[in-house]
Amino acid sequence: MIMEGDPFLVIEGMTIAAITVGATKGYIYVRSEYPHAVEAMNAAIAAAKRGGYLGTNIGGTTQSFDLEVRVGAGAYVCGEETSLLESLEGRRGIVRAKPPLPAHHGLFGKPTVINNVLSFAAIPFILAEGAKAYADFGMGRSRGTMPIQLAGNIRYGGLFETAFGVTLGELVDDIGGGTFTGRPVRAVQVGGPLGAYFPRALFDTPFDYEAFAARDGLIGHGGIVVFDDSVDMRKQARFAMEFCAVESCGKCTPCRIGSTRGVETIEKIMRRERVTENLALVEDLCNTMKFGSLCALGGFTPYPVLSALKHFREDFVPAPTTLQAAE
Ligand code: SF4
Repeated sequence: MIMEGDPFLVIEGMTIAAITVGATKGYIYVRSEYPHAVEAMNAAIAAAKRGGYLGTNIGGTTQSFDLEVRVGAGAYVCGEETSLLESLEGRRGIVRAKPPLPAHHGLFGKPTVINNVLSFAAIPFILAEGAKAYADFGMGRSRGTMPIQLAGNIRYGGLFETAFGVTLGELVDDIGGGTFTGRPVRAVQVGGPLGAYFPRALFDTPFDYEAFAARDGLIGHGGIVVFDDSVDMRKQARFAMEFCAVESCGKCTPCRIGSTRGVETIEKIMRRERVTENLALVEDLCNTMKFGSLCALGGFTPYPVLSALKHFREDFVPAPTTLQAAE
């Protein structure tokens, strides 16, 4: 939304960051599924160069800074900073073990500042209006605004920018207008494909990093996907493991092997095979992935799985008579 709608904000934020740390070259890494963002950023960079705001002696100063857009093939894991650096350097996107941190040993072995679009885009406002003006938006430690994507089974889907602090219920019911089908909202996945599923009982959760973390959730990139009461949460849990299996970079065992075993085990639960034992196995596997994975792809996959198990357990555990018959 920001790169397509206001690419100069990103350029300005990156230029300020570059001048601050003494960097002379910056890269904007965009996956190929976002051609409009690529086009808008390239056009804006060209305009900034023509205007003397990028290149040598920018704005008539002694500072030099150039920007380049690099288009990635679209691997999810290339959103992880070290994997992104590998891809930028022309290699397959595999996560690097840390340390060394990119700030010490980053792109092409040089100290590198690596941040997401939101962080860079916030810089011009903070410098122009002051830190207090920025901090006036939001609550607790979550300050500023967040572009939120309302999607899935929702009446008024789309992109909305709002200050941190509005509740999940306000976002889904008031801004989003409830489900598109008109059926009751049953589950909401917050934070992307690795975000936790929240039931209506948790709709009083404020959109705030700490508040979501306190309820075993995450805000992630601000994506909210709504499901009505026809959703089968076993399928959603299976999808999370499958997503991880497909997108895993393969560097570490809990994610590479665990996700595939996770798909198999949830499929057994779906076939009503040894449900109690396999549920315990999935929970154990999730803990191994959560604490043993090298990066957030494997480490966060348990969020959708465990939240589905915790808040929607009735989907996984059949009625006692059915269970006895199956076992
Ligand atoms: S958690 Fe998955 S994506 Fe991350 S380093 Fe391990 S194998 Fe790669």
